[in-house]
Amino acid sequence: MTETLRTDTPTDAVPAPRRAANGTPATEPRPATAAVAAQHRRLLASLPFSDVQDLEDAKRGFLGALEPGIVRSGDRVVWDNDAYGFLTGDAPETVNPSLWRQSGLNAIQGLFEVTPGIYQVRGLDLSNVSFIEGDRGVLVLDPLISAETAEAALGLYRRHRGDRPVTGVIYTHSHADHFGGARGVVSQEDVDAGRVPILAPQGFVTEAISENVYAGTAMARRAGYMYGAALPRGPRGQVGAGLGQTTSTGTFGLLPPTLDVTTTGQEETVDGVRMVFQMAPGTEAPAEMHVFFPERRALCMAENATHVLHNVLTIRGAQVRDAHAWAGHLTEAIDLFGNELDLVFASHHWPTWGRRRSVEFLALQRDLYAYLHDQTVRMLNQGMTGAEIAEAIVLPPALEGAWHARGYYGSVSHNVKAIYQRYMGWYDGNPAHLWPHPPEAAGRRYVEFMGGADAVVAKARESFDAGDFRWVAEVLDHVVFAQPDHDAARELLADTYEQLGYGAENGTWRCAYLSGATELRSGGFGTPVTPVSPDVLAQLTPEQLFDALAIRIDGPRCWDEHLTLDVHLTDVGTRYRLSLRNGVLSHTAAAQETDADAVLHLPAAALPTVAAGAADPAGAAAAGITVEGDPAALGRLTAALDAPDPDFAIVTP
Ligand SMILES: [Zn+2]
Repeated sequence: MTETLRTDTPTDAVPAPRRAANGTPATEPRPATAAVAAQHRRLLASLPFSDVQDLEDAKRGFLGALEPGIVRSGDRVVWDNDAYGFLTGDAPETVNPSLWRQSGLNAIQGLFEVTPGIYQVRGLDLSNVSFIEGDRGVLVLDPLISAETAEAALGLYRRHRGDRPVTGVIYTHSHADHFGGARGVVSQEDVDAGRVPILAPQGFVTEAISENVYAGTAMARRAGYMYGAALPRGPRGQVGAGLGQTTSTGTFGLLPPTLDVTTTGQEETVDGVRMVFQMAPGTEAPAEMHVFFPERRALCMAENATHVLHNVLTIRGAQVRDAHAWAGHLTEAIDLFGNELDLVFASHHWPTWGRRRSVEFLALQRDLYAYLHDQTVRMLNQGMTGAEIAEAIVLPPALEGAWHARGYYGSVSHNVKAIYQRYMGWYDGNPAHLWPHPPEAAGRRYVEFMGGADAVVAKARESFDAGDFRWVAEVLDHVVFAQPDHDAARELLADTYEQLGYGAENGTWRCAYLSGATELRSGGFGTPVTPVSPDVLAQLTPEQLFDALAIRIDGPRCWDEHLTLDVHLTDVGTRYRLSLRNGVLSHTAAAQETDADAVLHLPAAALPTVAAGAADPAGAAAAGITVEGDPAALGRLTAALDAPDPDFAIVTP
């Protein structure tokens, strides 16, 4: 329960904005505190801000920008890079100066020549799209998230490089910001006719869909926090996400690859462009590969060597990645291509030129992931927990002072905890943490022990004034979970998240903190939902669709339900038995000796309709589904389904 507006007195005719103690409306962002400003001054003194190599590299080869830097889908704006026009000059006190610098670099938008024959459009989405010129046309490497931004990028490229046809597409890995916009650069007909091959690493489709299907709703909700989608852009709002500015919100699709890349050393030539591949599975993505272009002496590192410390575990939630394998694949890239390259580029940020600089860049990135991995494991073997290692670990000076190793997207803190988690799991071995109370129950007890909510807020205010924001967040979280309608606690907690956001060097931490403050002040903003793409649904196997259905079964509601349903895919000739019993929906393709309560006959293409839970008897007929046996069976299954909540509360109970 939240309220966005409240009358100051019950007799007010017009609701006035809630007021903080200093008189500003409680929903408005506050200035930075002296503690945050002092922290920023210390950082300014300790980091090499006079090194402007990155700025030179981010502008090098500039050919022209999209003007205005806005992309629309019909009337709807799906990308607005111009909203970041405020990122000039020195950092204001409300933004960490290191993040300010990174965001300023990420917001540089336009078409750039990487080397003759290779071009990049940067600043038109979270990711970059690269264009590799061939004999007849151009290969598109990683076509962004949305068809609209990819199309705009291709248009910008063609305005400067001529109207070359797209003769191939490459997906470097299975994340949405590297394939979602393919339909903006190539048509289904050209792919189907074999005119435009699509190359991707082995396992691409499985990984591209599995990451977002089962836990997709919760991930999307948390991604809204992580990328600050609902925050206004500005010095007191969203300034960027470290990896790129934010995510575009246009049409997301999935054109499946036509050619799997399976082995390191595999060579392919498309439109005269020779490519040598290095497989890098289990790194930043489960299916990922690096691409070397020998004729251009250029190495594309996909997303494994960028100008950030990347995520071992992204804070939107995901399966934890393998920092050890990541480092190993960077060593292998140096070994394979280090003597033959003149430059390194990636699908985020700007390239690095020169062989010596490029190899040192790759080596430092390798050292970064290897150091975090090895030191975390060393320290956990000394009995330290993830939380303890995260505070104790210090990077070597060469990594600490390398801009591209800074924690703008991943952080040392949360990556160390992720490495601990990969080896040891959620439990830290201390039995006090084996069976703790959940937040509301714990909150009530903490608040009572600490003398009641008002007393906690009074003490927390002293800690706030002393700049101990981490502690204030910890104690006020208990108050808000115990008494979510305690206005003073909510306001002070919002102010606290805001200061933590202002202080954060990590773009996603800043977004998460400011999103939390926004929800406490103004109420839930839900999830800026991208509807599940029919392209993605079409790639799901029947087994995946049944699994997706099973995780929507409301167990307690149908403990006593016992239902069997055969699904007969008429066009492919396969038959599945679904059984609902004990609140579990299981499936098998094995032959059955008993009859099911009902048999659904349907073409495979109609299966997503069933899996979406939308197949009421009337809808079923419309989708070409015929039911044999108990006509009520499908309705009983649909009645057992629960809908995921895309707007669930995060900072309140
Ligand atoms: Zn990416």
